[in-house]
Amino acid sequence: MQERLKELQAEALEKVSAAAELKELNDIRVSYLGKKGPITEVLKGMGKLSAEERPAMGALANEVRDSISVKIEAKQVELEEAAVAKRLAAEKIDVSLPGRPVRAGSQHPLTKIVEEIEDLFIGMGYTVAEGPEVENDYYNFEALNLPKGHPARDMQDSFYINAETLLRTHTSPVQARTMEKNAGKGPVKIICPGKVYRRDNDDATHSHQFMQIEGLVVDENIRMSDLKGTLEVLAKKIFGQDREIRLRPSFFPFTEPSVEMDISCKICGGKGCSICKGTGWIEVLGAGMVHPNVLEMAGYDSKKYTGFAFGIGAERIAMLKYGIDDIRHFYTNDIRFLKQFSVTE
Ligand SMILES: [Zn+2]
Repeated sequence: MQERLKELQAEALEKVSAAAELKELNDIRVSYLGKKGPITEVLKGMGKLSAEERPAMGALANEVRDSISVKIEAKQVELEEAAVAKRLAAEKIDVSLPGRPVRAGSQHPLTKIVEEIEDLFIGMGYTVAEGPEVENDYYNFEALNLPKGHPARDMQDSFYINAETLLRTHTSPVQARTMEKNAGKGPVKIICPGKVYRRDNDDATHSHQFMQIEGLVVDENIRMSDLKGTLEVLAKKIFGQDREIRLRPSFFPFTEPSVEMDISCKICGGKGCSICKGTGWIEVLGAGMVHPNVLEMAGYDSKKYTGFAFGIGAERIAMLKYGIDDIRHFYTNDIRFLKQFSVTE
């Protein structure tokens, strides 16, 4: 019996030493020290021993049990520490590694242009007005002297949602809405930047969605010379003080007379080059004196009030100013294009 206990002790201690995981250690504990374990089994034979032998055998059994238990506890601490050390090694952070650089974005070139123009006009006493991009046929066309069936509607191929609703083809409906809100009382002095939509096939110079900035002034005694002076301030602010402007007669249904504004070509200084197609001038925007019909429809007395309006294509301005050759660059979000317009100019 003594020998059997010694054997079991040696066997258990060896297994404990070899245990590599906590679970394994627990299994050893259960199998050797549990009530159904071999040591308990051996001790069941105690009854056969003499009264002198029993205490010594009991003491030995306790000693074997204790030795195994102590060894298991020591091993448990060892394994737990090893597990912590392993985890620490795996989760180690190298604080000397350089961090990942955070890329700073920059303002979109169209936003820059729009804000620059807004700032200029706010400085001249204008307010910024906005209107819906999904617009009624009435405000987009009829209130701007373009009744149904008017041939000039074809100048702007439109995205209709239903017979009376469309994506606005220009920012001019904001004019009509603002004048209507003022109920025939001047003055009005607004600029309206916003997205507009036309059914164009996208190419280097066309985009089905683009950005327009509309300007409108209505008051008593507003004259063509006021328009010309305003456009001159705009052109010089955006393109440089050395630029000249000229107005050419044009046609828009909502203005009479209508003009187009050109600026002198910076590349050739007016001699003619490929950029200005040999003319020395570059077309920039359309403008004119508000048509009396438009004033009357909005409730203004066209004998008392006059006004001027202009429409700027933000993409066209940005393309001319920054030398961008394809309108699609504005909408394809190519980081190589966008990062050229850094925060500091
Ligand atoms: Zn030129």
